[in-house]
Amino acid sequence: MTEREVACIYYMYEGGCSKGKKGTFREACQICKKYKPRTGTAPARANLKKKKMEKIRERDIRQMLRDY
Ligand code: SF4
Repeated sequence: MTEREVACIYYMYEGGCSKGKKGTFREACQICKKYKPRTGTAPARANLKKKKMEKIRERDIRQMLRDY
């Protein structure tokens, strides 16, 4: 599933979309074809999954270099 954390430029409020779509951020906006992310805005929440994967990857590289 796609993870869109930045609001769309057409998003006004929950259930309100200037393009006449549903405009529900956690449902319709995640799969909408008209989605265009806003620039210069912070995401609604941090991508913890990505952060965790980076941390695990760094740990594995350090461990691999130590064992080498
Ligand atoms: S992603 Fe689609 S539904 Fe959501 S605000 Fe943008 S145009 Fe509207």
